[in-house]
Amino acid sequence: MFLKSLDLKNYRNYSSCSLEFSPGINVLLGRNAQGKTNLLEAIYVLATARSHRTANDRELIYFGEDQADIKGSVSRHTGTLPLELQLGKHGKKARVNHLEQAKLSQYIGQLNVILFAPEDLALVKGNPTGRRRFIDMEFGQIAPRYLHNLTQYRDVLKQRNRYLKLLSTHQTTDKVFLDVLSEQLAAFGGSIIAQRLEFLQELEKYAQELHLAITQGAEKLTLTYDSKLKDVLGHSEQELQQLMYQQLKGQLQKEIFQGTTLFGPHRDDIKFLINGKNVQTFGSQGQQRTTALSVKLAEIDVMKEQTGEYPLLLLDDVLSELDGQRQTHLLKTIQNKVQTFLTAPAMNDVAKNLIKAPRIFTIENGH
Ligand code: ATP
Ligand code: MG
Repeated sequence: MFLKSLDLKNYRNYSSCSLEFSPGINVLLGRNAQGKTNLLEAIYVLATARSHRTANDRELIYFGEDQADIKGSVSRHTGTLPLELQLGKHGKKARVNHLEQAKLSQYIGQLNVILFAPEDLALVKGNPTGRRRFIDMEFGQIAPRYLHNLTQYRDVLKQRNRYLKLLSTHQTTDKVFLDVLSEQLAAFGGSIIAQRLEFLQELEKYAQELHLAITQGAEKLTLTYDSKLKDVLGHSEQELQQLMYQQLKGQLQKEIFQGTTLFGPHRDDIKFLINGKNVQTFGSQGQQRTTALSVKLAEIDVMKEQTGEYPLLLLDDVLSELDGQRQTHLLKTIQNKVQTFLTAPAMNDVAKNLIKAPRIFTIENGH
């Protein structure tokens, strides 16, 4: 798929802007603070209905205005699809084909994007929150059921934690309601774990291949799911739900004492291994970055396999962060198949690696 055009109104520092893109590579050039990242962010928001930089939609609205509008025209195998997102001070409206969608989950997934920024190179050495966010954002775009389970899980988790607080501070002694919440949490949690395991297996298949190529056959990359629950491997979704429920029940006293939920997908993590050794603890800086690159690029293929179409790739200042060999691999992987938007301070940073001429946009102060 690719984004044919984008219209912004009062989005960040763009008061009004209409752009037509190339289905190949689009380069956004400009000095600092001109609006390069803002433009990539607008495409990301059009796809996922949320920003990768902030949870507060108000920041996305042009200073002093009440509403931001993002419109895009997406070309897919099935035809052209207009998408519209309206961000107001009191919420957002999403339209697909001019029809307003009652739920955002019906909107998300029409346009698939992968965003790659310098902080993603820290995926491996950073904290577990970043790695969970990575799975949730990427997988949520292509699997509506995953997104649904995740939203429900978060709601029940909040309720359950509130109730555990009440029990831990002796404001209630009734454990029947807690059991209801445990059962609900385990139902959504077990499904999430089952889906994550499946997703990681897919991701590993492609990441392994890319990693071998980048390291010229020297490093075998494997991904494992690191769960706070015991023995999650080799179970069906239903068994995982049962497993989580049993383990929640078994640790109830500890949870009541601490006043919070100690097990479940919100505490889980991913481990990356090279030739069997944990990259986070034993890997060099370069190995950690190459691993992050392989995993990010593998997503392109996972999305293709799941949705039948390649996603868009948004690269924010990453080329300058990679050495020559990794740059070559990145550009080789995307050229001729993935519509790409990349930011750079100047053209000579990108030109040497491109086969075909890109479409170039020079950005100055939101224009
Ligand atoms: P760099 O090369 O430094 O990353 P950039 O071109 O990516 O720069 P952006 O992050 O896209 O820069 O744009 C930053 C500019 O947008 C800043 O000058 C900031 O003041 C402005 N800006 C951010 N939010 C808003 C908003 N809600 N309304 C108006 N302007 C905004
Ligand atoms: Mg920027």
